[in-house]
Amino acid sequence: MRIAVASGKGGTGKTTIAASLALSLTEAGTLPIFLDGDVEAPNAHLFLNPTFEKRQEVAIQIPQVDDDKCTYCGKCAEVCQYHAIVMMGRKTLVFPQLCHGCGSCARVCPEHAIRETPQVIGVLERGPARSGIPFARGMLNIGEPMAVPVIRQLKHWIEPRAGQLEILDAPPGTSCPVVESMRGADFILLVTEPTPFGLHDLRLAVQVAHELKIPIGVVINRDGIGDDRVDAFCQSEGLPILMRVPFERAIAEGIARGKTLVDIHPEYTDRFRQLFMQIAALQ
Ligand code: SF4
Ligand code: SF4
Repeated sequence: MRIAVASGKGGTGKTTIAASLALSLTEAGTLPIFLDGDVEAPNAHLFLNPTFEKRQEVAIQIPQVDDDKCTYCGKCAEVCQYHAIVMMGRKTLVFPQLCHGCGSCARVCPEHAIRETPQVIGVLERGPARSGIPFARGMLNIGEPMAVPVIRQLKHWIEPRAGQLEILDAPPGTSCPVVESMRGADFILLVTEPTPFGLHDLRLAVQVAHELKIPIGVVINRDGIGDDRVDAFCQSEGLPILMRVPFERAIAEGIARGKTLVDIHPEYTDRFRQLFMQIAALQ
């Protein structure tokens, strides 16, 4: 079972919730795998303190056109959905920054004029974290725009034991990397805050989850700071609010020092276990 912990908006406390859930379940004897899929700015290591023991580069295959073989038929440009290979008169140009490394252009080229060469775009790292939690993260190289291949490989890097839970900390937003993080999950836990920005981005995240046909639950973080429009939205959409974390100075200060909710308030351990039981029931 995989739970993707996501939020339409950055800064909602998504990683704190994901890390606290992992630690609470570990204490109860359910050792989950933790995947930090926020590959542009991974920060779950600050809460779970892993010791990285393995490292693996992530590469995509970028096409290179052999001008001696190319007949400028344009089939490669036609098949590329990302406009990463284009015809400019009698020249076939590749734009590596737009290329997703899908290989379609090389497959359709009738002249076998396209050779693919690997380009490293990021890295995966893994090792045991606090309480022995198997931890892995992806990191996109600076300046690389293609987060999706890194997340895709991260999801398959640690083989779960039969029935082992995976918790995936998704990137913020609702773009392709978030969709890739959610894809294949059994449940999406959306962390939001009761503000107009929180509501706006929650709506978008819910749309994505609905399109993927994955069940959703909501955690309202910093409860009490805004208004009740997030509550009203969840009610109108039939979205279960599974947990509320109040806006509290002690929590904010603890998180700023790298503590999770269960470090700051140990009684939250039980609340996170109950949260997991609700998720299991909603699946
Ligand atoms: S590998 Fe895919 S994305 Fe890249 S240029 Fe070829 S068709 Fe386009
Ligand atoms: S499909 Fe092959 S031959 Fe045709 S334009 Fe592209 S690289 Fe050249």
